[in-house]
Amino acid sequence: MTEIVIRGGRVIDPGAGTDEVRDLLVRDGSIADAATVSEGAVVVDATGLVVGPGFVDVHSHVNTIAGQRLQAFDGVTTALDLEIGLMPVAVALQRAAEEGRPLNYGYSASWAAARGLVLAGVEPVPDLAGVLALMGNEHWQASSSPVQRDRWLDLLSGELADGALGIGVPIGYTPRAEPSEFLHVARLAGANGVPVFAHVRNLIEADPDVLVDGADEVTAAAAETGVAMHYCHVNSTSGRHVERALGTIHAAVAAGSRVTYEAYPYGTACTGIGAAFLAPERLHVWGLKPHNLVLLPSGERIADAARLREVRAATPGALCLIEILDESDPSDRALLEGTFADPGTIVASDALPVTFTDGTRDTRQWPLPEGATHPRTAGTFAKALRRFVRETGSWDWPEAFRRCSYLPARLLDAHAPAARRKGHLGIGADADVVVLDPERVTDQATVLASTAPSHGVRHLLVNGEPVIRDGELLPDAYPGRALRS
Ligand SMILES: [Zn+2]
Repeated sequence: MTEIVIRGGRVIDPGAGTDEVRDLLVRDGSIADAATVSEGAVVVDATGLVVGPGFVDVHSHVNTIAGQRLQAFDGVTTALDLEIGLMPVAVALQRAAEEGRPLNYGYSASWAAARGLVLAGVEPVPDLAGVLALMGNEHWQASSSPVQRDRWLDLLSGELADGALGIGVPIGYTPRAEPSEFLHVARLAGANGVPVFAHVRNLIEADPDVLVDGADEVTAAAAETGVAMHYCHVNSTSGRHVERALGTIHAAVAAGSRVTYEAYPYGTACTGIGAAFLAPERLHVWGLKPHNLVLLPSGERIADAARLREVRAATPGALCLIEILDESDPSDRALLEGTFADPGTIVASDALPVTFTDGTRDTRQWPLPEGATHPRTAGTFAKALRRFVRETGSWDWPEAFRRCSYLPARLLDAHAPAARRKGHLGIGADADVVVLDPERVTDQATVLASTAPSHGVRHLLVNGEPVIRDGELLPDAYPGRALRS
């Protein structure tokens, strides 16, 4: 029997709504009654520290050891790719189990990859790079015929049977796909009792040519099917129209629809440069010019439309930073931070794999060799804590754990019962625990130093096993487990 007693910290349990200085007992991977601590338990002194359930990131594309370690220093204990997902999900789960993961993991059924096979003949590979490479494919960007649609719906059914946690639908990347596609996916999700995770189309204010307004499409599908819809990164897909997108969501929720939403606290977005909405003739929709795009990992700022066309043709899956909002501009910053004043906004990172200078995307080496990613990968949660708890005071600590741990875990309760043991510290909960320094917690990652780990996480336990101890990574710790439906 392994026992760890975390002694004398300020323990915050967003499940019970408690916030008190006490001991927290971890026994055999679960939270146990602190009154039953045995002699010989390992003692971790948490005096002056905050203790809470580890963060549950419902939007993480890292699925690598290197990326998960950066997220561990950001307080994350569960990292799920639900927006895009991985296909075949059974292979992705098996690979993660064989390689080992420091954090818990899970994936949605990938609408993008299933469409890639049916519309473009591209065999799915369980890696984000596979879907990034599809983004510039015109067959994939096109609308599905009814026969094609039925084929990929079948594939998605198989993925759900194999444990996928819902269906990830980045329909914003296929602007010519008929709106009926989205409804068909929603009905399939409804038949299987799982949610849809959507990267929405453009909003009509920004793009009058869009087939259907992105916020309306998701909320109408929620109303029509009753299915739970999760609206991914409402910050980045709304640009300067985030208040309207949130208004559409609020109206849907008030009318009884199940719609949830998330954001990451950066004005700069990031995706594959081949994405349809980054075509030179489409950039104006976002108020962007080619020089607002920066290639990773080289740091090349795109000079002009000709260079943009060239890069899109040569390496459509290459990641690029997209300067959507300017955080140094007070009105843009107010838009971004106002999103987090909304009590329903979940914190989710949209973390991306690190690309190392030799072109590889994973390593067991720590500290990490030189590489680049979006700073949100390493810094989302600590930045949210720094800004909204420490600097502006708009959240207290219980509110921070509600946004980062409790609410995201609840998205999965109905179809992945193991999620009910996450996001809180009740007796019997999984011992996914973060112990952090409330005075020092801060992000370090910037565009120029994008893999700098956050500071302030003193201890991190995943399923009761330490991954970070006294602020240091334990390089042999791979306690992550799969979450499946
Ligand atoms: Zn997205």
